[in-house]
Amino acid sequence: MAATVDAFGGDALIACDNLVRIYQVENIEVQALQGLDLLVDKGEMIAIVGQSGSGKSTLLNVLSGLDVPTAGAARVADWDLLRMSHADRLTYRRSVVGFVWQQTARNLLPYLSAKENVMMPMAFAGSGPRMRARRAMELLEAMGMAGKAHRRPHQMSGGEQQRVSIAVALANSPQVIFADEPTGELDSATGDDVFEALRSANQDLGATVVVVTHDHAVSSQVQRTIAIRDGRTSTEVVRRTKMGEDGIMRTSHEEYAVLDRAGRLQLPADYRDALQLRDRVRLELESDHIGVWNDKTPVTPRVEPPASAPVAAHTPAHTPAQAPAQPPVHTPVQTPAQPPAPASGDPYAPPAAAPQPRHQTDATPPPAHMPWLPPGEHND
Ligand code: ADP
Ligand code: MG
Repeated sequence: MAATVDAFGGDALIACDNLVRIYQVENIEVQALQGLDLLVDKGEMIAIVGQSGSGKSTLLNVLSGLDVPTAGAARVADWDLLRMSHADRLTYRRSVVGFVWQQTARNLLPYLSAKENVMMPMAFAGSGPRMRARRAMELLEAMGMAGKAHRRPHQMSGGEQQRVSIAVALANSPQVIFADEPTGELDSATGDDVFEALRSANQDLGATVVVVTHDHAVSSQVQRTIAIRDGRTSTEVVRRTKMGEDGIMRTSHEEYAVLDRAGRLQLPADYRDALQLRDRVRLELESDHIGVWNDKTPVTPRVEPPASAPVAAHTPAHTPAQAPAQPPVHTPVQTPAQPPAPASGDPYAPPAAAPQPRHQTDATPPPAHMPWLPPGEHND
């Protein structure tokens, strides 16, 4: 089914534009996604991180075709996630995307062996028994689990079960694997093995991988980490590895604020606190950056034009781009090209006084165990 979403993120494999998901619980509305934008290119392996309740699972449920957003646009490959028929939805879940959930028990059928579990989605997609057996063994091999192909889930460790789960997710050669806290129930060494298996799904088998987690440490495991806060993407960390002049490879992490299509961005809480930026700020366009000032800071008179600095929080259509006649007196706050180096060394670590999200629960009801089963046969 061809997508009818606008050209936003035309080349991207996944494009979410102003995605909104509101849950109505009795008379209370919970805005789980509040205008989220997200672009993921084919072949990327990214992490989406955020505190509990920030909307991560809601986003994955939408992207995996299990839930329909309230408003906005969402596209994966050529599939418009807001306008799929039931039949399209089933095809999409069976062969375009694959899933790995946090609870190992939700990914695998307990009475089947690892190999039979991997063959199951292929049977539902109509492939023949010999082809199923061959591909199942290839995938288990790629996940380092070929030697345990005949074990049932209870005869495997948690990390092994997750590696088999990744093989199940890959069974029908999906374009994208979505993993919701896949290492949440594992210790960190086992979690690293599972990440390694996801990386192999990405690099060796060509699947685009989107991992959701509350564990900020994953940014060292992926090329790009997107932070989600109160249902919107707020910052991105890009990891680059470069060879230095001394021939040694070095990895750097650069933090960016996400600028949405309407021009909104979120200033990090520690930047706002440091300069007591609140309610409204004064903006000044300079030749290569934008200055952001506390609105109580006196305006420095300019030679030309007269000082009528814009004050609105939303970027107004002010007359731009005359390089200042004199350098500004105030040290400008540049859009963060580098992380503000918080004490913990974790660029996402919230400052001590960071406001907590209003909703702290992790109340997403478990979706169907086996998303590739037709409706009515879900074992949830
Ligand atoms: P995360 O996965 O980041 O912990 P969720 O996407 O599960 O966050 O939840 C985001 C917000 O939406 C939370 O406030 C949560 O309580 C609420 N929420 C999630 N699912 C439901 C639901 N089915 N009904 C009502 N509220 C929900
Ligand atoms: Mg969640």
